[in-house]
Amino acid sequence: MERAFNFSAGPATLPEAVLEQARDTLPLWRDTGASVLELSHRGPDFMEVAEQAEADLRRLLAIPDDHAVLFLTGGATTQQALIALNFAAPGQVADYVVTGHWGETAVRQAEPMVAVNLAADGATAGYVDIAPVAQWRRSPGAAYLHYTDNETIHGIEFAGVPEVGDTPLIGDFSSSIAARPLDFSRLGMVYAGAQKNLGPSGVSLAVIRPDLLERAGQPRAPIFDYRAHAAARSMLNTPPTFNWYLAGLVFKWMLAEGGVPEFERRNARKAAALYAAIDGSGGFYRNPVVPAVRSRMNVPFFLHDTALEPLFLEQAADAGLIGLKGHRALGGIRASIYNAMPQAGVQALVGFMGAFRDRHG
Ligand SMILES: *Cc1c(COP(=O)(O)O)cnc(C)c1O
Repeated sequence: MERAFNFSAGPATLPEAVLEQARDTLPLWRDTGASVLELSHRGPDFMEVAEQAEADLRRLLAIPDDHAVLFLTGGATTQQALIALNFAAPGQVADYVVTGHWGETAVRQAEPMVAVNLAADGATAGYVDIAPVAQWRRSPGAAYLHYTDNETIHGIEFAGVPEVGDTPLIGDFSSSIAARPLDFSRLGMVYAGAQKNLGPSGVSLAVIRPDLLERAGQPRAPIFDYRAHAAARSMLNTPPTFNWYLAGLVFKWMLAEGGVPEFERRNARKAAALYAAIDGSGGFYRNPVVPAVRSRMNVPFFLHDTALEPLFLEQAADAGLIGLKGHRALGGIRASIYNAMPQAGVQALVGFMGAFRDRHG
């Protein structure tokens, strides 16, 4: 069977070249006599793999030298809990801007440790827009402000980094990291699970500004302490070595393809083609998100007759287009078009959508 175009939101499609490289290198790593999966994480051979991946990531994302880069386990959700433990004093207020499902999760994970102030909450309007910063109800002296750059389920994305003054800004970039250039100096912390835009599930990335690492935070075990992870270069305990290696291959692939600015151009082109197909369908397809904040990574849409959706998904799969089922919280269809999704995949989807509409419109 041929590889399909996989629009899954995560774990998501990986570059075919990376998969082939992983296959070719899997049984034997260089002259070690062992697979990369079998190397000690503290040995020189794996250390070289790990350090190369970090160096490539720093170059790819233009991460300032003084920022810590951590390769962690536990997914983005675990970081949402650790953020509160590490950066807020017990009972201190932290501001949360909730623009979709993952913002809700961030609040739920932090609530046991901090006094959450919902500075903005898009839930009542049904998560179709982002309130302007001037309307956010922020608390003076907040430990930090947390927001979700791209809401993977609701398909809502910030157009840029919000301006919040001196309050440290913490951004969940799980589904938008490396999709467009980012000025890290404007954020206290950026975190992302790898399984959307960076690699396989099982490894998460945290980029932390030095002043935040100095915070006392709350009583916590060393394994929940970002400072301890940073001091140990993410090797406080056994890191997810294979995932780290594979993410490193993705970083190299992105650099070779032209880096983040090139992916920003490609992503804009892909998103424009898909939204044009939806908006130009005469109401057959519908995306409810306000255009200015529509996601360039995850495009949820609905059919005018929802009863047609199972047939849409079945015939799409027959046409080699998979992973299109919407999240269970929202239903409908969702096309995730991360860096590794080629333009040809989006063109195939747009072509299928037109043909499906001709048959059923
Ligand atoms: C997928 C996702 C998460 C959750 O990631 P896990 O690695 O499953 O914990 C959090 N935030 C966003 C924006 C996501 O897309």
